[in-house]
Amino acid sequence: MSDDVDGAYDNTHRAFLQALLSRQVITFNEAKPLLAAIQTANEPERPTLQEDISHEDFDNYVYTLNSAISPFDFEIRSTLHQTTKQKIYALVNTTSDALTQMATVHSADEITFVKRVLDAMFDTNNTQRAEVMAISSMQALKLAKDANRRESGNTQAQNAGLTMSQAEKVLQSMVDEGWFELSTQGFYTLTPRALLELRGWLMDTYNDQPAEDDEDEEEVHEKIKFCQACKEIVTQGERCPKLACLARLHAHCVRSMFRAQGNREECPVCKTAWVDAPPVGEKAARNARRSTGGTGGRRSNRMRRDAAADEDSDASGGGGE
Ligand SMILES: [Zn+2]
Ligand SMILES: [Zn+2]
Repeated sequence: MSDDVDGAYDNTHRAFLQALLSRQVITFNEAKPLLAAIQTANEPERPTLQEDISHEDFDNYVYTLNSAISPFDFEIRSTLHQTTKQKIYALVNTTSDALTQMATVHSADEITFVKRVLDAMFDTNNTQRAEVMAISSMQALKLAKDANRRESGNTQAQNAGLTMSQAEKVLQSMVDEGWFELSTQGFYTLTPRALLELRGWLMDTYNDQPAEDDEDEEEVHEKIKFCQACKEIVTQGERCPKLACLARLHAHCVRSMFRAQGNREECPVCKTAWVDAPPVGEKAARNARRSTGGTGGRRSNRMRRDAAADEDSDASGGGGE
């Protein structure tokens, strides 16, 4: 069966590419019925069942499509979802980053809001104490207005960002367009596809170039960190129990990492025992909330102030619909 799809780009590839363009990501199991239907439509006298589609057939489609679309700066890349561990295949633009693509369908104010949300995910909510790398929908909505402008006066609201309902719509469209996903606990995170497309942008934006002879560990703290096992970005997973250490692992990569180092359950970088490894991801937000005192106090005071300020503006805003 794979003989006649190997190499040659035909109508079935075109149809599969169209399906990918409209959905952006696909799993092998989702592709099976799709490819069966496409092949059956192509050859009605020889119907294909979804059980007939092997992983090799699917790989052949991906391979053939990749050579066809690479001149247009697209590539189908695969990655594992960090929590469901599902292998997903995403249609990735290899030259422009996700923010550039969003700008083709969103206004400048909307993109600026999305950038504030990303700053909150990867900067504000991503400290050495708590690597949340996610944002609650409450906190995201509070970024509808540019906080700096808001303090200097409410009169020019149209220049100061979005209304609450506009922000809500943008967040929803980020989910619909496949950039954000919303957890059951109400946290927005970047999807695997967004991480594939934003990898370079995230590193450029949030990782300081470490200065030579810099003694201050907080200063060289890299905001975007990679799994020691699979080398992909970790926004949900585990971190080395030694807080200053930059080693991160996906939950599904921990066991293979230990196996690779002869069953030694220790950090691959600093050799600290990998016991009670703190979480990376929204679980880190819950842990941070539970712990009181320390350096977290200053931050929570500020958040309380922000929340109070927002209640004020909500009351005066009158819905904004
Ligand atoms: Zn990994
Ligand atoms: Zn370590």
